[in-house]
Amino acid sequence: MKLTARLSSMTRPLAGLAAAIGLLLAPSCATVNPVTGRRAYNIYSLDDDVKLGQAVLESNNEQLREAGVPINQDAQTLRKLEHMVARIAAVSDLPDLPYTVTLYHTNLVNAAAAPGGAIMVFEGLWHPEDGLVRDDDELAAVLAHEVAHITCRHTTERLTQVTTAALLAETAAAVATSRSNEDWAQGIRAAFAVGTTLWIPAYSRRDEREADRVGMFYMARAGYPPQAMVRIWERASQRPGTPQRASIFATHPSSRERLDHLQALLPEAERVYQESRARAEASGVSPSH
Ligand SMILES: [Zn+2]
Repeated sequence: MKLTARLSSMTRPLAGLAAAIGLLLAPSCATVNPVTGRRAYNIYSLDDDVKLGQAVLESNNEQLREAGVPINQDAQTLRKLEHMVARIAAVSDLPDLPYTVTLYHTNLVNAAAAPGGAIMVFEGLWHPEDGLVRDDDELAAVLAHEVAHITCRHTTERLTQVTTAALLAETAAAVATSRSNEDWAQGIRAAFAVGTTLWIPAYSRRDEREADRVGMFYMARAGYPPQAMVRIWERASQRPGTPQRASIFATHPSSRERLDHLQALLPEAERVYQESRARAEASGVSPSH
């Protein structure tokens, strides 16, 4: 983010911004994302992802604490989630990121990934009636999808793409002033214009397809049956009712197209899963949970 210093010292802000945006979007800035195989612009480094993610997590924790939501109070469930994420992250494209899980005791039906490895899980996810998942394999499918958003670096790629001139200036100013987490949080708030509400990422349809594809292969490699990912979205697509804004059904639309995509990927993912199980059995390690 060397450009931020340049931005803050501009005497003619508009001309400066135009120059800065030109530089940001210069062809040399487009690199092939090794995870998605697609050319992408991302002005952030992986370290930036981690810092931004920490700021998002702290901001969300603050909001939820103020709302009286208990955080990480179910130690046993938290350990299980951490174990599952570690297992999935280990076979991911970015296994060395500082993955963490934060568990919120609330009936919100959601899970979210902040950039750089912070995964947020809301207990409503497995609520018997209103929830999304019915067993640990399905839970692994959701976690693998979130890990994929992180390794595909969707948030900072989107932040790079959707940032308009004004937002870029605001974000850059906040980040340039100081690298403390509070300022990062301000930058994030400015960029996503979420004010003081809970930060829940809004991914594009393409991002969701990528996270489904990449996540399905992560779960298969980690020894979780990929069929579970198809199952949850099959059930979700049949669910009546209007999705709530803060619900996974709103942030992750369960269209027929999405389900067809997952079903098309399933045979190949099944093959990867069987190989993973065979390897685990050969090494004497149980691939079960
Ligand atoms: Zn998603």
